[in-house]
Amino acid sequence: ADQTLGRLAEESWSRFGDFDSLYYEGTWHRAEALAERTRRVTGGFGALGVRPGDRVVVMMATCPEVPVTYQALWAAGAVVTPVVFLVGVEELRHILVDSGAVAVVTSPELLDTVQAAAEKVPVIVVGDAPPGTTPFARLEEAAETGAVRRDPSDLAALMYTGGTTGRAKGVMLTHGGLWHVSKAAQGMSHRPGVTRAIVPVPLSHAYGLIITIAGMHAVEPPQAVLMRWFDPGLFLRLAAEQRVQYGSVVPAMLQMLLAEPLESVRLPDLSYLTCGAAPLGREVLREFERRMPGVRILEGYGLTETSAVTTFNPPDRRKVGSVGLPLPGYTITVRDDDGEELEIGEVGEICVRGDALMKGYWGDADAAAGGTALVDGELRTGDIGCVDDDGYLHIVDRKKDLIIRGGFNVFPRDVEDALNEHRDVLMSGVIGRPDPIHGEEVVAFVRLHPDGRATAEELIAWTRARVGRVKYPREIYFTDSIPVTSVLKLDRKALRARLTG
Ligand code: ATP
Repeated sequence: ADQTLGRLAEESWSRFGDFDSLYYEGTWHRAEALAERTRRVTGGFGALGVRPGDRVVVMMATCPEVPVTYQALWAAGAVVTPVVFLVGVEELRHILVDSGAVAVVTSPELLDTVQAAAEKVPVIVVGDAPPGTTPFARLEEAAETGAVRRDPSDLAALMYTGGTTGRAKGVMLTHGGLWHVSKAAQGMSHRPGVTRAIVPVPLSHAYGLIITIAGMHAVEPPQAVLMRWFDPGLFLRLAAEQRVQYGSVVPAMLQMLLAEPLESVRLPDLSYLTCGAAPLGREVLREFERRMPGVRILEGYGLTETSAVTTFNPPDRRKVGSVGLPLPGYTITVRDDDGEELEIGEVGEICVRGDALMKGYWGDADAAAGGTALVDGELRTGDIGCVDDDGYLHIVDRKKDLIIRGGFNVFPRDVEDALNEHRDVLMSGVIGRPDPIHGEEVVAFVRLHPDGRATAEELIAWTRARVGRVKYPREIYFTDSIPVTSVLKLDRKALRARLTG
């Protein structure tokens, strides 16, 4: 088979053209209408001078033009460079210069940021386009153009990651890799008749990118309900109204949903939600399933560098507390600090091999700090965990977040889990602060529930009773906001900056 994304879309459109395949803000769009728009936009990019191999930045909140743009760029042979809409001028400028992007596609509310960063790079605007920019609508006036030939090993996406560690570096993902993962993830979760998805995660993150491909082209027939951004009330309303059957979320979304009156919502069609991108507390999973019977949470794990998904819990064989089994085509090895392979059950660095791994980092970014690296064709993930007797992967924490206090290893997640169990705590973030005596000291940022009254002394005693005398936080900073990334992942880098800044 021709394992390219242009081909995948064409096949799906030819089989399911007359299906309603995408819902957004009150309207269902038919697959053939999206196919036609995509082919026109492909022609439009060609007319603008976008050539195979060119990088084009796409920075927009979720809307139907995002998948149309992605597919059109793939058909034109170009490399999609998605950027989350939260990124500021400096980081965007870095991405534009580093990638050598030939154009940016954006929407009016982000235009200030884009124009400040873009300088000479042409800007295409979905919606009102001011002088000096190109309206997206003009691309749609072009004649329909089919997909150019691509090889599975050709680049499809250049995704900037490093949001939570160092300087953003470009991850090179291929057509074949994304094709494989979207098919494999779909194959592992698939149940006959379950085809209608809700997509509340940003399409610019690897997780959202793979869901867009899988949910819109690998499912038969594909039907995706897109959300501009996540809102728990709207999520529940849309899921009920549009009779959604499955969906993809991140742990923070489940947590926010728990604050809603779930008991009064009826979602008889919803059978499962996949969840990944950040640690999922067992209690969150249990409580969600207790309050929403009939819906199962299927946890998965992955990195941008593995085309988003590495492991997944199949619905009929899930193991709560694990992140599941490797996707077909991936093998996992756990290694110690010297790179030696560890036994089953032993905790070390998670290393991944497989065809859908990134080709590498763009440019000379390999040397960049951050913990994740490709070594002899194997990805050292920078995550710590173990594989159990049945082959399921368990994540302990991230190597790069490890705190070493007086020679003892402290995993911040253990401390956060203990803090989060306190009824007054809404969210917490634990980091190490350089310390002249212990090397590092454990400190915690805590956001209390609006009516929470716990004091620092109380929380210190609480965690000490749970994690012991080494790991408990010596300092607690109360805050109204714990910084998070685009997929609502705890942003420890921003927390560290708060300590030094
Ligand atoms: P960087 O890794 O460069 O700092 P990032 O964390 O935003 O940036 P991503 O590729 O978005 O990079 O995320 C991959 C990481 O997310 C994994 O290395 C792992 O630490 C974490 N992760 C993903 N899924 C899970 C999960 N189910 N449980 C715990 N952690 C997870």
